[in-house]
Amino acid sequence: MKLGIVGLPNVGKSTLFNAITSAGAESANYPFCTIEPNVGVVSVPDKRLDFLTKMSNSGKTVPAVIEFFDIAGLVKGASKGEGLGNKFLSHIREVEAVVHVVRCFDDENVIHVESSVDPKRDIEIIELELILADLEVMSKRLERLTKIAKNDKSLLPELELVKKIVEELENEKSARYLEYTDEEMKLLKTFNLITAKPVLYVANVDEEYLDAPETNKYVNIVKEHASKDNSEVIVVCGKIEEEVSVLEDDEKQEFLQELGLEESGLDKLIRASYHLLGLISYFTTGPMESRAWTIKKGTKAPQAAGKIHSDIERGFIRAEVTSYKDVAELGTMSAVKEKGLMRLEGKEYVMVDGDIVLFRFNV
Ligand code: GDP
Repeated sequence: MKLGIVGLPNVGKSTLFNAITSAGAESANYPFCTIEPNVGVVSVPDKRLDFLTKMSNSGKTVPAVIEFFDIAGLVKGASKGEGLGNKFLSHIREVEAVVHVVRCFDDENVIHVESSVDPKRDIEIIELELILADLEVMSKRLERLTKIAKNDKSLLPELELVKKIVEELENEKSARYLEYTDEEMKLLKTFNLITAKPVLYVANVDEEYLDAPETNKYVNIVKEHASKDNSEVIVVCGKIEEEVSVLEDDEKQEFLQELGLEESGLDKLIRASYHLLGLISYFTTGPMESRAWTIKKGTKAPQAAGKIHSDIERGFIRAEVTSYKDVAELGTMSAVKEKGLMRLEGKEYVMVDGDIVLFRFNV
């Protein structure tokens, strides 16, 4: 479960990434300072897991995690190999969603590579580079398919789809704006296009706007752009995130309260990312550990069990399932059982976010 962080130089990617890793990548007022794509792993904040840990008196808590790739070097002309671009475009192909950081702060001391703060232009520069990168790949595919589809009619649907996408990209539009049939979706996934991946925008604002982002004109511009494809916008202040990320939990709460915030921008971002990827969590809990397991929405019980161990998927008999809501309400697993709220579910059961599960299986 990887997301790639993109954006023009000096918009605050490394600052945000530092908050993600709480150490590491240099943040300097210099374009291209992060040369290698870095990976940061963060836990997904989940109060339910904290509750279960306490309830079961678990020795260990294992949260769900997601990974962020810091993809630096995207500038105007990157798809033509300018800057350090082209190398990085290949890294974006590996991610499942894109986090697009947009500069929404004025600061004379921080150079803007395009000389002024202009979120719309900045977003369009990055999008165009991604579009051109996809266009290059798809044009090659179109050329090859046109030749071989003459002798292999089974390839015609793919050829039609590729034509449709090439046309969209030539009009400087991202592939995700098109509508696709289920069949087309299957093919599309195999193309691994950058502009078909879901996007989450991060508006990086100055501290003073954190509790009133709607008063920031730049944020509103980002929101307007994002609304075109129903993408979400998360407002953060990179500098504050960096400060928050090194604090202990209680200090963190205090600091956020002083700022009038309920949770950090990073926590918001992590949660939104999880959601964007269509991920949900189920839990296992006991004295040894309480743990969140990540699955895609729509996953059935045996495959969910397979996340724990392939043997449990293979030997799956049934799942004993309780809803987090019931457990939180009644306070203990035994109270839930007594009330008859534990269900026995079979192979066709589709997992629900917040299920607490014990799998029964043959070894
Ligand atoms: P990157 O090139 O996109 O990775 O940008 P950096 O994270 O290196 O940030 C560039 C500069 O902007 C650094 O000097 C940061 O301290 C500064 N910066 C990052 N976020 C903010 C912010 O929210 N407000 C202000 N004023 N400066 C910021």
